[in-house]
Amino acid sequence: MQETKVSQGSQPARGTAQRHPDSGRGTNLSPTSPSYAVETVELTKSYGSHKAVDGLNLQVPTGSVYGLLGPNGAGKTTTLKLITGLLRPGQGAVQLFGKPWQRAALARVGALIETPALYPNLTGAENLEVHRRLLGLPRQRIDEVLGQVGLQDAAGKRAGAYSLGMKQRLGIAIALLGSPELLILDEPTNGLDPIGIQEMRELIRSFHAQGITLIVSSHILAEVQQVVTHIGIIAGGRLHYQGPWGGDDLEEFFMKTVAPGAGVPAQPGGQGRDGQ
Ligand code: ATP
Repeated sequence: MQETKVSQGSQPARGTAQRHPDSGRGTNLSPTSPSYAVETVELTKSYGSHKAVDGLNLQVPTGSVYGLLGPNGAGKTTTLKLITGLLRPGQGAVQLFGKPWQRAALARVGALIETPALYPNLTGAENLEVHRRLLGLPRQRIDEVLGQVGLQDAAGKRAGAYSLGMKQRLGIAIALLGSPELLILDEPTNGLDPIGIQEMRELIRSFHAQGITLIVSSHILAEVQQVVTHIGIIAGGRLHYQGPWGGDDLEEFFMKTVAPGAGVPAQPGGQGRDGQ
């Protein structure tokens, strides 16, 4: 994987950054690269004159838990919406599973972006049933995903009466219905208490163990560093660092990376500073 680094910051990873075989390619669309579940190429999205995402080159290795990190307003949610087709890029492109983005590939993607859209008057199982029918999946998938997120005992309870953590888990269960290879979770621990955060961490680990690639956006760095294999740090819509993570102080590294004066990549989206 290509490592993009800013001028300051301690060594983040125990492992060695893997370089993409085509890492010297510049800004053109690369040949397909199935080793990445998601690859963005100079991805850009503006709201009016404001570039929310600015020339982003993300590379999410298949099988990784990729932490998409950045301060408020960095462009994390916008990036995830671009990957999942909720927004269209202004410029640049997204590749899914080594191929140019196409809607059909979303059948292999599950996503929970912002808050889960639930029917409060339906039970957890009934909420899942709505989506199961839309997707044309067998009934057994409902029990399977309820088991995956630990909601079997609450399946008959109204979703409106769920705790925040249970709602998050039901949202993830809906995202899991189609047996995705890639699961995208936007701030999954937002608003959760310490127990809920720990449960979410265990869930993420269990999905990773099942071979699902995960992109998890978060700003709770102490939590994230316990589950991620790779990180991408964005600020102001631009990539400041990307690479494997095996360190033990993500907060310190993050602060150095996004601090004023830390610098931005030499090229838009962080093609890197000569690998330094
Ligand atoms: P947070 O951690 O606070 O959720 P984020 O990293 O997810 O932030 P985004 O929500 O992607 O950031 O927002 C990136 C930038 O784009 C921000 O400056 C935000 O104000 C702006 N933005 C996002 N959505 C819109 C919109 N619909 N219209 C105008 N500006 C927007």
